[in-house]
Amino acid sequence: MLRGMGLRLWVPAAAPTVAPSSVAPLVASPPTPAVSAATLPAAPVQSPAKPGASELDTLDWPALRQAVADCRACGLCQGRKQTVFGVGHPHAHWLLVGEAPGEQEDLQGEPFVGAAGQLLDRMLSALGLTRAEDGPQPPERRVYIANALKCRPPRNRNPTAEELALCEPYLLRQIDLLRPRLILALGRFAVQALLRSDEPIGKLRGRVHRHRGIPLVVSYHPAYLLRSPLDKAKAWEDLCLAAGVAEAGAEP
Ligand code: URA
Repeated sequence: MLRGMGLRLWVPAAAPTVAPSSVAPLVASPPTPAVSAATLPAAPVQSPAKPGASELDTLDWPALRQAVADCRACGLCQGRKQTVFGVGHPHAHWLLVGEAPGEQEDLQGEPFVGAAGQLLDRMLSALGLTRAEDGPQPPERRVYIANALKCRPPRNRNPTAEELALCEPYLLRQIDLLRPRLILALGRFAVQALLRSDEPIGKLRGRVHRHRGIPLVVSYHPAYLLRSPLDKAKAWEDLCLAAGVAEAGAEP
């Protein structure tokens, strides 16, 4: 199917190892916003109590999940049905970071379960990767999926810088607990949160960045790919790059 789409197939055993330093940037496409939802005014912050990194430092997965569920640091807590913590095996080698829960995610409590999530799952399964928490797959075939924001912004508006900053300690603690071999940042808000960069995805993809020492690959948000299917080929290239890096990192 991928060949039929003109896309390069990923074959782990035969694929060359991609060393971060040897990855040449691809030619950048014209800057394209990854998510184009209209920006609405932010809900007022109820309490300026940003969860401190040190408060979260000692939390294990269940305690961190509970801290997120109890969070009232910003106004998004008022409109959420539930928080969306993350999904996947706690020893997954891959961490995928999206933007924020949408309507379906808010209802079901799991990231990327709507149309964009279905596309993401198809792309992952083409690489033999799964978000499943159980089953026989080794850690290198598993992904953990989290969002930069744990609560749904009203009417799926873009996250504000303040919301991203207030939610950041939770994502950082998730990264510390997971210690992934590879982070895949999906879309410009994940990039803003992890790389502190406002550059367009087209300028950042195609090479390996670092987040506190962990290799990080940038790609388009799946919701953008639903609107711009021609860029799926580039997203596939990004996944192949990420797979090469994850595989290199998994070697003893
Ligand atoms: N978009 C995201 O960035 N995250 C989700 O969980 C769903 C849609």
